[in-house]
Formats: sequence, structure tokens, C-alpha cells
Amino acid sequence: MTKITRRTFTKAAGAAGAATALGLVNVIPARAASGRVVVVGGGFGGATTAKYLRRLDPGIQVTLIEPKKQFQTCPFSNTVIAGLNDIGFITHGYDALRNKWGAQVVHDMVTKVDAAKKTVTTAGGSTIGYDKLVLSPGIDFKWDAVPGYSQAAGQKMPHAWNGGPQTILLRRQLEAMSDGGVFVIVSPPNPFRCPPGPYERVSLIAHYFKTKKPKSKIIILDPKPKFSKMPLFLEGWKALYGDMIKWVGQKDGGGPSRVDVGGMTVHTEFDKFKGDVVNFIPAQMAAKIARVAGVANKSGWCPINPRTFESTMVKDIHVIGDASIASPLPKSGFAANSEGKACAGAIVAALSGKTPGVPSMINTCYSLVSPDYGISVAMVYGFAGGKITKVKGSGGVSPKGASTEFRRKEAQYAEGWYSSISSDIWG
Ligand SMILES: Cc1cc2nc3c(=O)[nH]c(=O)nc-3n(C[C@H](O)[C@H](O)[C@H](O)COP(=O)(O)OP(=O)(O)OC[C@H]3O[C@@H](n4cnc5c(N)ncnc54)[C@H](O)[C@@H]3O)c2cc1C
Repeated sequence: MTKITRRTFTKAAGAAGAATALGLVNVIPARAASGRVVVVGGGFGGATTAKYLRRLDPGIQVTLIEPKKQFQTCPFSNTVIAGLNDIGFITHGYDALRNKWGAQVVHDMVTKVDAAKKTVTTAGGSTIGYDKLVLSPGIDFKWDAVPGYSQAAGQKMPHAWNGGPQTILLRRQLEAMSDGGVFVIVSPPNPFRCPPGPYERVSLIAHYFKTKKPKSKIIILDPKPKFSKMPLFLEGWKALYGDMIKWVGQKDGGGPSRVDVGGMTVHTEFDKFKGDVVNFIPAQMAAKIARVAGVANKSGWCPINPRTFESTMVKDIHVIGDASIASPLPKSGFAANSEGKACAGAIVAALSGKTPGVPSMINTCYSLVSPDYGISVAMVYGFAGGKITKVKGSGGVSPKGASTEFRRKEAQYAEGWYSSISSDIWG
């Protein structure tokens, strides 16, 4: 992969960002579109789509359905787990979407989709009709993929892979752990939400231990042979935390074979690991409503037309965010935000009888190795040969061996990114 130079990335990203922010070339309709769009899920993908549909064409009636009144993001939840921020820092509401952008926001859970009648039904008993339906419901866990683990076990060995109560639970457990304790984290198999996320979590927990419980140790059990930004994480861990962190990867049998929740132990092919705190992140698939709606295939994820994000399985249902198969775009909040804009553009075009434009999307994943040590991977995505493609020369990863100042700046960019994407989505 090409190394980032800030200037080349900014140039490419700027061009893509402009197209993306407008919701794509050719989509501004000559006459206002009208129609009803229901968006399921008020997270990164769904809230973006709802806002940008209204921004691109206020003639469209948009109903966003999301059970939570307050959304707690996964991005920056690792800073809450490490005690650097409180939960309020990652909490966002829907007032702007309602009052500034004119979307209807309904706090309820969609339980049924009738694609023939074009309606959704909610747990609260409402039935709402649509011309276009957008699903951005995120992920569900494969609770029984490893014997011994279950949804109930998640109260003792939290996953903390959805922002909210699980984030707080893991934080409380780490606070209660004594100095000299062992923190075991089980990283999930591919594909999963936020590829660098488990390793950023380890980094920030190591920072917490270094400053508050320096005799403690961290073990990462990993079924994978490598992970996102691996050389950069390894370099940072060595420089900042010495031998506090041990990674047990695929070749050393890092994948869990069985979990003993009562004994707080994770068994692998060759060994067993007892933790004082165990963070078990299960394997993942698209959230249940995607399967209920019939838009998920055997893989558990949702195939889409990469130009419009319309499902290839059910007409007039679009799937974005983590639930979709949009590779090479990663399952990230930034990618979901980009996809939301592309999808909004495609829907506005379709509702006004136009051909959708060609999407241009963007992603940067920042990770904090400590509060003032940031690293990143970035890419601009185009469309060619019927597929989403990486734009050559547009992105890259932070260089190895960079100065303290370089890392400090990247940590600042990470905070700036979080603040600007949050206001882009919920502001
Ligand atoms: C620890 C961690 C750190 C991360 N850090 C980053 C980062 O730094 N940068 C980054 O870009 N990404 C990051 N991510 C990834 C990011 O959180 C996800 O990729 C992103 O949230 C995906 O957006 P989404 O819209 O698909 O799902 P979500 O944002 O999870 O939103 C889904 C919403 O749908 C709702 N929903 C589900 N089912 C229904 C239903 N039936 N009816 C109504 N509503 C429903 C849910 O309540 C939820 O609010 C991180 C993830 C983790 C776990």
C-alpha cells in the first residue's frame, strides 16, 4: 500500500469529498422528487441517509426508525473504556434531524418488512408504507459460534462492540480489577465491524494500566494471521508499553475453541487463558432485520448494487453500512457515512426519474495507540467495471518510524475527525 503524504491524500480526498458531500454527480433533480423513504437504523449509515435525503430534496418524506433516543457511538468508545472520556462524549440525539432537517424520527424497532406491499411494521404496532426502504441496522453477533459463549455470557465477559451499556460494563470491570490483573481480549474472525478496533482498544487499556495499574498484563487471542495496521500497532506497543501486551495469532492457535464463563477462562487449541477481565468479541453478521427482510445471503451479509446500494435480492430496499457487502470499503462508521450519502443521491435520482450518478466515497480509520499517539489508514473509493474500486495513489497508512510530533498530530486529527463526522451525521 502507498504511504500517505498528507498533501496527496487531502487532494484526492478533497475531490471525492466534494462529490460525496453533494450526494454525487447528476443527482440534483430538475424538478423536486417526491416520495416516501423509510430509513431503519439511526447510526452512522441511517442517520446520514435520512439527513442527506432531506438536504438533497426537501420534497421527500423521510421517516427514520431507531429504538434508541440517544445514540452512543462505537468510534471513541475505546476512550470511554480506558477512562479518558465519559459516556456523554460519545452520545448524540436526533433533535437536529427532526427540527433542522425535517425528517420524522420514530423511536421503535422494525420487526417486519413486507416487500410486496412495501410496508414495515414495528414492535410498537405501527405499519408504515414506503417507496424506498433503506436498511442500516448494523450487526448482530453469532452468539453460539464458540461453545460456552452466549448472549447471557456477554454480561460477564462483555463484547462492548455496540456503544452503550456494554461500553460502561467493560469500563466498570477494568476499574474493579486490581493492579497485576490479566485482561484477555478475544478478537473476532473476518469480516467484522471496525478492523483496527480491537487493537486500538488494547492500546488504550494498556495506557490506562501503565498510568494506574502498571503490573497488569494484556493477552490478545486472535484467530487471524494478521490485523489492520499491524506493524504500526506493534511498533507503538513496544515503544509505549514494553512487554505488557502479548498477541497470540493464528499460527500459535489464538482462535478460541471453548469458553468457560464461570472460570473466566478461554480455551484455545493448545492452551487456556484465565483473565480477571475477559472481553469476548463474537463473530458477526448483518443485524436481524436484514435477514427478516430477505436481503442477507448465506454469508449472513447483504449483497448490493455498488452504484446505488440497492439490494440485489429485493427491489427497492437499499442496504448500507456494516450490514452490506461493499468491500473493498471497510465496515467502518466513516464508510457507512459515505455510503449513506451515495445511497441518498441514488434514491433522489430514482425518485425523480433520473439515472443515478457514479459514487465516489472515502474512508479514514484513525486509531489511538495512546491519547497523544495516533495512526491512520485512508483511501478514496471510486467505481469501475461494475465494482467499487480503490482509487490508485489516493490513500495509504501512516509511516513507520514517524516522529513523536507526527503521532501527536495524528491523534489530534482523530479527535477532529470524530467531532466533524458527528456533527455531519447528528448535527
Ligand atoms: C470499538 C469500536 C471502535 C470503532 N471506531 C471506529 C472509528 O474510529 N472510525 C470508524 O469509521 N468506525 C469505527 N467503528 C465502526 C463503526 O462503529 C461502525 O462501522 C458503524 O457504526 C456502522 O454504521 P451502521 O449504520 O452500519 O450501524 P450502527 O451505527 O451500529 O447503527 C445501526 C442502528 O440500527 C438500529 N437498528 C438495528 N436494528 C433495527 C431495527 N430492526 N429497527 C430499527 N432500528 C434498528 C440500531 O439500534 C443502531 O442504532 C468502531 C467500532 C467499534 C466496535
